[in-house]
Amino acid sequence: MATIGDRTWGEMLDYLRSKFPHLSRSWFDSLVPTDFQHGVIRICCADVTQHKYLSEQCQSAFSEAAQVATGRLVTVGFVPVNNNPITETRLSFELEEGQLALNKNYTFDNFVSGPCNRLPHAAGLAVAERPGQVYNPLFIHGDVGLGKTHLVQAICHQMYAQGLKHVLYISCETFTNHFIEAIERGCLHRFRDRYRHVDALVIDDVQFLAARERSREEFFHTFNALYQSQRQIILTADESPAGIPSLEERLVSRFNWGLVAIIERPCLETRMAIVRKKAKLNCVDLPEDVVHFIAAHAESNIREIEGALTRVQAFSQQFGGEICLDMAREALGSHVGTTSKSVTIQDIFQAATEHYGVRPTDLQSKRRNRSIAFPRQVCMYLARELTRLSLEEIGGYFGGRDHTTVLHAIRTIKDQRQQDELLNQNIGELMRLLLKKGEV
Ligand code: ADP
Ligand code: MG
Repeated sequence: MATIGDRTWGEMLDYLRSKFPHLSRSWFDSLVPTDFQHGVIRICCADVTQHKYLSEQCQSAFSEAAQVATGRLVTVGFVPVNNNPITETRLSFELEEGQLALNKNYTFDNFVSGPCNRLPHAAGLAVAERPGQVYNPLFIHGDVGLGKTHLVQAICHQMYAQGLKHVLYISCETFTNHFIEAIERGCLHRFRDRYRHVDALVIDDVQFLAARERSREEFFHTFNALYQSQRQIILTADESPAGIPSLEERLVSRFNWGLVAIIERPCLETRMAIVRKKAKLNCVDLPEDVVHFIAAHAESNIREIEGALTRVQAFSQQFGGEICLDMAREALGSHVGTTSKSVTIQDIFQAATEHYGVRPTDLQSKRRNRSIAFPRQVCMYLARELTRLSLEEIGGYFGGRDHTTVLHAIRTIKDQRQQDELLNQNIGELMRLLLKKGEV
């Protein structure tokens, strides 16, 4: 039977990773293209969960990759393999699916501490050393891009290193999905068994739970069970517990039982230390005046610092020569200053509310009529263009939609801007207004 060669398959995987990073998963490497007939490449999956994910979300991405790699108009089909009937009946939360992979660079060694994050950093170290015994829960909050995810992953790394086995690091989205799956399949007891018997439960961006009533209720009980058995709970959010809209009092008060610590914007010195650290990680030599230049200009968050550093690095690779202040100036050019815009998701909500006459709750709702769906898509587009939020984070602000929905919205608006001049101007105007606001 004909099949495709390793090289073509490798090219497909590379294409998927670079073009659709949000869809790519590390287990793609273990997929096997089995045969190629009548224009269809069949790909064999390891279990039902993979099969479900691929057929529901990745069909067109894989087909596009196959067309690019083969240069022919082919499509892709996914074959569920199931030699093992046990897998069939296991649920995704029992398959370590959804457990977020830790970024190997997000360690304590690579985390710079300074006045902006001294408390959460120290608390994180203490919790990692004695999980369940010092601060429980540990609740870390702060604006986007200030290091919450890095810090909690550092704690996870450290707990693993100390031999703690069952550390579950997940997003709110995953918790909710697993919960819904358990309800639909009538296996709530298995869900509970899974979640209530971990050594540490780490949930990133817990503010997104606010929009999900039943999941919140379940989380409440999960929390109680873990707390009572002295298992460590670690949460992050973009707001303090009391600041998360529509989070009920009993959860707010529980989050306050342990330690609530804020990460603030880093001062110049900390930013300089971070630039040095990141440069070292990337094996780049930076003179001190360049370190200062980057740190002085990228002030709103750390993702911005990383962006500036990457630009300078790319510039020096492209044009050769040692990195010096003049080169950094040139590399960052118009980027410095303008990148410190600070449009927030709240600004965008407000602009849309005024402009389209919708309510913020409409934007977060599941309602699909055009008078609401359209402004919602515009907001997602604006959030992508004007803030540093990831697709997942944006989805979270709109009633917990997943990143593919957000991506779809962004593409739709992009297309429409090209086709409809009036709409194009309209959105351009909204963006200018928001940026103006962000400057002051
Ligand atoms: P958040 O989750 O708060 O939005 P992240 O943890 O994703 O922020 O941090 C954004 C980027 O900034 C990451 O690449 C992270 O490594 C880096 N970063 C944040 N804080 C620090 C720090 N104190 N030291 C070193 N790098 C940091
Ligand atoms: Mg984060």
